[in-house]
Amino acid sequence: MAEAAPDGLPPADGLGPALDEPIFGRAAIVGVGLIGSSLARVIRRKRLAREIALFDASPEVRARARELGLGDVVPDSLAEAVAGAGFVILCTPVGAMATVAAKMAPHLAPGAIVSDVGSVKASVTTELAAVLPPHVALAPAHPVAGTEQSGPDAGFATLFRNRWTILTPPDGADPAAVDRTRRFWEGAGARVELMTPEHHDLVLAITSHVPHLIAYNIVGTASDLEDQARAEVIKFSAGGFRDFTRIAASDPVMWRDIFLANKDAVLEMLGRFTEDLTALQRMIRRGDGEGLEALFTRTRAIRRGIIDLGQETAAPDFGRRSGEEA
Ligand code: NAP
Repeated sequence: MAEAAPDGLPPADGLGPALDEPIFGRAAIVGVGLIGSSLARVIRRKRLAREIALFDASPEVRARARELGLGDVVPDSLAEAVAGAGFVILCTPVGAMATVAAKMAPHLAPGAIVSDVGSVKASVTTELAAVLPPHVALAPAHPVAGTEQSGPDAGFATLFRNRWTILTPPDGADPAAVDRTRRFWEGAGARVELMTPEHHDLVLAITSHVPHLIAYNIVGTASDLEDQARAEVIKFSAGGFRDFTRIAASDPVMWRDIFLANKDAVLEMLGRFTEDLTALQRMIRRGDGEGLEALFTRTRAIRRGIIDLGQETAAPDFGRRSGEEA
């Protein structure tokens, strides 16, 4: 939580003043890890809801959430946490979301908006829609912001500031619920865009999921080297490899679930990637320096475009706090 400025102005964290009128009464967050705890912090900081209820499957995480003062109430049951909530956000790994939604379904208040932060949208949206009662509105979301850290201590209120949150309303979604969810994320400092769940999954497959797979693979390959070479890889790890190790340190359960849930889009993008890699292999074998240089010049322009859009800085910033996202 940012400290208050001495002159009574809002904290200089770039999040702006707290809302006079909160968007929701009770907001319930299920899964108090990096994303869930960041949401709790920004809801409190911006007064996006009047009351924050937290639930996590792990008693240790619930105890830690109480110690950190992340919520107003941290009950030991999911039913109690979601009771009376106008906004319920699922922040568990993607593979647990349908089970959690089915368990909380009988306890949801009429008119409640159920959202999530899952990194995969099409399969999760279908699964959630199948188990939620008709008297609630489903408004799925994906904040494209994160770090390789996990757990309630890793979160921070500014995680979503100036980052994109993609809303993926299913066919027939209640426009008022989508609009309130948009206002919620804008209140958290995010820029909001709408996409279909399928388009989201294709875009994220190439911008996030396949890059993570490549990082897991290259670090795995290095760790399979014989002892001497492996020791040298670690000792001399320069920017390239070191950046891959940061990405490959991302939460194993979360990423297992992402690849299983976004199978089709990941396989499609991996197919294209493999073809392009083979073309690069051929250029190297044939000594096609011109071809290599042309590609590297094109890719450098993409990096510049990302910096120009304000999604990254030009500073070399290894081990940065808010880096890769899912
Ligand atoms: P995290 O730090 O590991 O937190 C997830 C929390 O959910 C853990 O405390 C976990 O408890 C709890 N949990 C697991 N199963 C549960 C269940 N059935 N009921 C209640 N709580 C349960 O993960 P995260 O990084 O915050 O990611 C959460 C979600 O955000 C994922 O769906 C991910 O795809 C999405 N997301 C992540 C990022 C990122 O960069 N990290 C970015 C955008 C979106 P245990 O530890 O005891 O299992």
